[in-house]
Amino acid sequence: MTTTAPETLRGEVTIRDLSKTFNINGRALNVLKGVNLHIRGGECLAIVGASGSGKTTLLRVLAGLEEADEGRVLIDGEPVHGVGTERAVIFQEPRLLPWRTVIENVAFPLEVRGLSRDEARQRARHHVQLVGLADFVEAYPSQLSGGMAQRVGIARALAIQPEILLLDEPLGALDAMTKLTMQEELSRIWREEKVTMIIVTHDLEEAIYLADRVLVLPKDKGGRIREIEVDLPRPRNRSEGGFVKLREELL
Ligand code: ADP
Repeated sequence: MTTTAPETLRGEVTIRDLSKTFNINGRALNVLKGVNLHIRGGECLAIVGASGSGKTTLLRVLAGLEEADEGRVLIDGEPVHGVGTERAVIFQEPRLLPWRTVIENVAFPLEVRGLSRDEARQRARHHVQLVGLADFVEAYPSQLSGGMAQRVGIARALAIQPEILLLDEPLGALDAMTKLTMQEELSRIWREEKVTMIIVTHDLEEAIYLADRVLVLPKDKGGRIREIEVDLPRPRNRSEGGFVKLREELL
């Protein structure tokens, strides 16, 4: 019998002994302390935890938007410093350029990176279609709902063809129904694009629905990070026993 080795995907993240302290009014606040973590290429990891536990800080350090005091971040085995095109970040608010159409917004970072206008538009069109906005290519941001605007944000991030998508409460500003649809969309995009996805969320159901593994940041900063494998079949059934049990374990 022949066995095929599992596909090794790029976008592997290793975090070694990461620490970050903020100085607030002369007092040191230890936000991250000796964090060690390995995220497989193509894995979807959710980061949950109480408000102020350091979720956004960890994501910003991974994105290269914040510098750690100690420790290292390695991508595919190589240490990274600052931002890089192998990582794209999606925030709660997509902050689209209001005077540019949907396709022009998605093409913008590609033009900044030196692609010609035509090349950029071609690639942007593909990603606008991928997020289900083919009929809104020439629409302006003011004509879009919150969910649609966030789809544009996702298309814009994917257009630079990153290995790793870092998402900070990406669905936090959306209404409950739109949120459910967008969770399904994110799950589909993750499967199709085979990117590593690291998502900060305060929504435990969202974490279990999307992720292979949920990382819980402790409230008290000296505590140890908890990791919970989400060993459930995909697509996930939200009312299934395993889903409910995991949710209880997290609460
Ligand atoms: P979370 O995302 O889990 O809510 P954050 O990472 O945003 O937590 O913040 C963790 C702690 O670090 C909070 O107490 C916050 O006030 C503090 N903090 C975050 N960013 C800064 C900063 N740039 N300067 C000072 N303190 C900060």
